[in-house]
Amino acid sequence: MAKKEKQSETAKLKEKLLIQKKNAVIKLSDEEIAECDKFCEGYKDFMDKSKIEREAVEYSVNLLKENGFTEYKKGMKLKAGSKIYVNNRGKAVIMAVIGTAPIDEGVRLCAAHIDSPRLDLKQNPLYEDNDLAYFKTHYYGGIKKYQWTTIPLALHGVIIKADGTSVTVNIGENDDDPVFCITDLLPHLAANQMTKTLAKGVTGEQLNLLIGSRPFKDDDESGTVKLNIMNILNQKYGITESDFISAELEAVPAFKARDIGFDRSMIGAYGHDDKVCAYPALVALAECRKPVHTAVTVLTDKEETGSDGNTGLCSAYLRYFIADIAEALGSDERTVLSASQCLSADVNAAFDPNFPEVNEKNNCTYINNGVCLTKYTGARGKSGTSDASAEYVGRIRRLMDSNNVIWQTGELGKVDEGGGGTVAAYIANLNVDTIDLGVPVLSMHAPYEIVSKIDTYMAYKAFKVFIED
Ligand code: MN
Ligand code: MN
Repeated sequence: MAKKEKQSETAKLKEKLLIQKKNAVIKLSDEEIAECDKFCEGYKDFMDKSKIEREAVEYSVNLLKENGFTEYKKGMKLKAGSKIYVNNRGKAVIMAVIGTAPIDEGVRLCAAHIDSPRLDLKQNPLYEDNDLAYFKTHYYGGIKKYQWTTIPLALHGVIIKADGTSVTVNIGENDDDPVFCITDLLPHLAANQMTKTLAKGVTGEQLNLLIGSRPFKDDDESGTVKLNIMNILNQKYGITESDFISAELEAVPAFKARDIGFDRSMIGAYGHDDKVCAYPALVALAECRKPVHTAVTVLTDKEETGSDGNTGLCSAYLRYFIADIAEALGSDERTVLSASQCLSADVNAAFDPNFPEVNEKNNCTYINNGVCLTKYTGARGKSGTSDASAEYVGRIRRLMDSNNVIWQTGELGKVDEGGGGTVAAYIANLNVDTIDLGVPVLSMHAPYEIVSKIDTYMAYKAFKVFIED
């Protein structure tokens, strides 16, 4: 008897003093799990319709309009409850709901990115080699090149024709659409290739998209496969070869978002990084009615290539927006930014039992353990990080706990194993309190990535309580 009591004392003390690492499934009721699963049906729909940044912006703007948001123009009158958005060149979008508190108290900002690693077509992409037609590509973002061969690829994007009109391209997603593919060497003849490292087994210039094989048939002038493809493209899109120069065409995996596992607990899809944070942040803001502090969400482009360019977060477009609403509400940019708080919403690498050696097990994130708070990112001695203050981490931690958001903390891999960062530093550099928060992902940057439904829902809950606090 005495021994048993002592054990329960130990258990009590453990609970009081030590971190309890528990799978979120254990902590949630069946109703709550069903709520997570329901939310993820919407997410899967978004994923199938938003493979590239332009499509994610279109989806977002439609959802915002349905929820009473209007396009903001400088000089527009704003008051508590005003719902506005700004579309930056069709590739990034900022949305806001004006709060009841004075704007001098700052905004609650969520930032996620809607671009994902992919293969962009070069500006002169079309060529023929030994009676096969191809598109030359230049990969976008960090990829393991060998992963992009022998999978079905779709083509998304826009072409601006010589006369200035534009054509939207989306081919390879419908079941009766053709798809495209990058070939790889058969194992029988790959003895030399197989001795190369994974980094060199398939090179950037071998990522050529197979797009056709039949020549154009016409009396004497037959024999050109390239001409036949260009003729098909001319009939379908009204373009000529030079129009590729002013096009943005992106080859992306033609997979649809699907449940993973007998228990349907996970989702496999292309581009979870970072749409698994963008969608929850979008929905949380679209549902926001009249917050205390002005809620702002930015879904940005170009994160995967370093955030440069006018649609990336190193551009001034976010600052200009804050300056405009600050002015409209009788304040100024620096006052508002200095009082603002931000969740930089990007994915983190989930612990993978097949590759345990890259993680330090006490400080990495696990599937189904909730949304991940990351105090700092960077590489080699935290280089390039904004490193959130203990005070700010403390505030966000209390906020999550008091609203039953299941969360965990972790960093991206072991010290000096590699590393990486996201837009947090660029926002923190504007004198905004900023912390990374996001969903753990398996196989990040692969053509098919995996997340947990519960973690995805917890991201939504985290953004909701943050912008409504
Ligand atoms: Mn990311
Ligand atoms: Mn990424």
